[in-house]
Amino acid sequence: MPVAHTPRILSLMMAATVVVGLVVGVVACAPERAPTASESPSPSPTVSALPTPVEKVKSFFDTGRYSIDDPTSIWVVNDKIRPLNPLDYVPQDMVTPNVRYISSPLIRTEAAGAIEKLFAASAAEGAGELQIQNAYRSFAVQTSIHNRLIAQLGKAKAQAQSARPGYSEHQTGLTADVVGRPAVCSIQACFGTTPQGAWLAKNAWRFGFVIRYPEGKTAVTGYIYEPWHIRYVGTDLSTEMHNTGILTLEEFFGLPPAPDYTS
Ligand SMILES: [Zn+2]
Repeated sequence: MPVAHTPRILSLMMAATVVVGLVVGVVACAPERAPTASESPSPSPTVSALPTPVEKVKSFFDTGRYSIDDPTSIWVVNDKIRPLNPLDYVPQDMVTPNVRYISSPLIRTEAAGAIEKLFAASAAEGAGELQIQNAYRSFAVQTSIHNRLIAQLGKAKAQAQSARPGYSEHQTGLTADVVGRPAVCSIQACFGTTPQGAWLAKNAWRFGFVIRYPEGKTAVTGYIYEPWHIRYVGTDLSTEMHNTGILTLEEFFGLPPAPDYTS
């Protein structure tokens, strides 16, 4: 009977609707559940991974931030195997800092501000007054000093005392030889034992300077202990060197030691 078929068809249709509905429901739910399932494991690695990058950021010092080759860079490293390039480089932003000096006080602007603060702090903190013995030396001046010394002492002794032109850090405009006022132990190792020399060794880093030729590092720097020779590198680097206890630019930047000229 056709009447009897109707409920069966209806119930089949209803059943089909339910099945379709379930399938649609499952399919519809599936994309919602899938991310939930894949999201829940991902937060835990993220959380556990988080402290590592944070620690790395804290201890990471970008040694490539400034050039160590460009003579205009405050991080330039020049020594007996790393001459300035060009050899007759002349800094373009030198000024006379507002400090006492004996001769040749020119120094680059950034270093000038720092040396003013350094000298003021030495006096304010009870170590006594500092003054510049000499700062910038040009390629031409270094040439005449060097040649005069060679004539007087011979090449070997002259080169032990005075850098070849183009190799002197004084030519960067970032360096000064300093002494107390009145001058005691000028350009001599005993400057390190004066109140100013002792204070300088402990505190130069606070103002962006390093004692460029420390005691016991002649085999690395190529120079005898020069407690009077300070080099401006900026406080980022001077602080990092202070904190890590690395005394020379060569060692800090992983450069080969420069005990002597190669030729
Ligand atoms: Zn010097």
